[in-house]
Amino acid sequence: MATTQRDYYELLGVGRDADEGEIKKAFRRLARELHPDVSDAPDAHERFREVVEAYEVLSKSETRELYDRYGHAGLRGGGFQPGSFDFGSLSDLFAAFFGEDVLAGRGGARGRGADLAAAVEIELVDAARGTTREVPFEVAVTCAHCDGDGAEPGSAVTACPTCGGAGRLQQVSRSVFGEFVRTQTCATCAGSGRRIERPCNVCDGAGRVVEERRIEVEIPAGIHDGQRIRLTGAGHAGQLGARAGDAYVQVHVRPDPRFVREGDDIFSTVDLTMTQAALGASVSIDTLDGDHELEFEAGTQPGGIVVLRGRGMPVLNGFGHGDHRVLVNVVVPRHLSDEQRQLLAEFDSHADERTYTADESFFEKFKSVFR
Ligand SMILES: [Zn+2]
Ligand SMILES: [Zn+2]
Repeated sequence: MATTQRDYYELLGVGRDADEGEIKKAFRRLARELHPDVSDAPDAHERFREVVEAYEVLSKSETRELYDRYGHAGLRGGGFQPGSFDFGSLSDLFAAFFGEDVLAGRGGARGRGADLAAAVEIELVDAARGTTREVPFEVAVTCAHCDGDGAEPGSAVTACPTCGGAGRLQQVSRSVFGEFVRTQTCATCAGSGRRIERPCNVCDGAGRVVEERRIEVEIPAGIHDGQRIRLTGAGHAGQLGARAGDAYVQVHVRPDPRFVREGDDIFSTVDLTMTQAALGASVSIDTLDGDHELEFEAGTQPGGIVVLRGRGMPVLNGFGHGDHRVLVNVVVPRHLSDEQRQLLAEFDSHADERTYTADESFFEKFKSVFR
């Protein structure tokens, strides 16, 4: 195994008193410049190897000390073998090209597509029945031109030179405690193990393109405002055929001015005129599934509640329905003609104690419709 006889400090372009940080910085700059995958210079490979070797020696105090005292001969005497990248220098090399993210495992590994989110707004009455909506998504899908391959059809795809096609690299480091083996995703090919000679013209090698899609989403009856529906596999396409992510559709249920929803129960009000309340009346009210005729007995009081059992919202993923409660309001005339005023005054002159007293049996019956 040939080692260079050139001075390591000169190779990195730093002084003999350079500290750790300066050495690392110089190495990263040179590695970016001289990496054989990047540089066209005919001697790039050789120079790159020399720079890596120089960095290997100077980045560790142990070998740097040997080299400072005895030069190249001192290293050989100490059993130093260049080219056996240890984990330290290799991770520095990756960082030089790809930033620290790759090393932390956040970058690139062959993986499942990302999830995506969309929102849809529906009416309360639709939430009561259940409905379907077409929801537009911007989604990354497998490129049809290269079939997700990333390579221009017909062009060569070879094994990644860094990892030899494995997609992963094993680093063995030796210490007094023994041998440590660490495996990490190859940063050159982002774990794919492939080197693409000519990237696909359509997706530029990504294997995926962004497309506008409309997905029909089934919204179950009884859904609550803000709930999310997951569409498994409807998210962004994965890399190289890996599983797609999921899509999440957040459902907003638009408030209906006629109703207040509380859980699965529905509340509304009904206005009875003073005479309707006093004489009794049949009044049409709005419910979730259309008009409903309600009978009000003579003497209906304001503040009373009529319960329509099972006429509320359906229970999501369950059985039955909530209730619809109708709060009775009695409207008192605001503008009276002279004639009306006279009639009311006359009515009042005929009123006695009994006129406004609750009928015992009627009151009990009335109470029974309350919850
Ligand atoms: Zn690779
Ligand atoms: Zn493509």
